[in-house]
Amino acid sequence: MSRQYIDCREFPSTMNCSVALSADTEGELLDAAVQHAVSVHGHADTPELRKQLATLFKTGTPPVQAPAQQKVPA
Ligand SMILES: [Zn+2]
Repeated sequence: MSRQYIDCREFPSTMNCSVALSADTEGELLDAAVQHAVSVHGHADTPELRKQLATLFKTGTPPVQAPAQQKVPA
């Protein structure tokens, strides 16, 4: 099973979150991502949120450099 990750830097947010999460299984990553989305971004833990997060997972490990994003210049 290959490593998977989700990188908050890819998604513009009001708080410019720079957290990236990675795990060996989709289940672990989903749990971590849901906890992060709820505690940091104030989302509700719903089946819809879990489904949406799962579509954002990528194979590999988070890049050192911040990925490209449509960030509004400060
Ligand atoms: Zn985040």
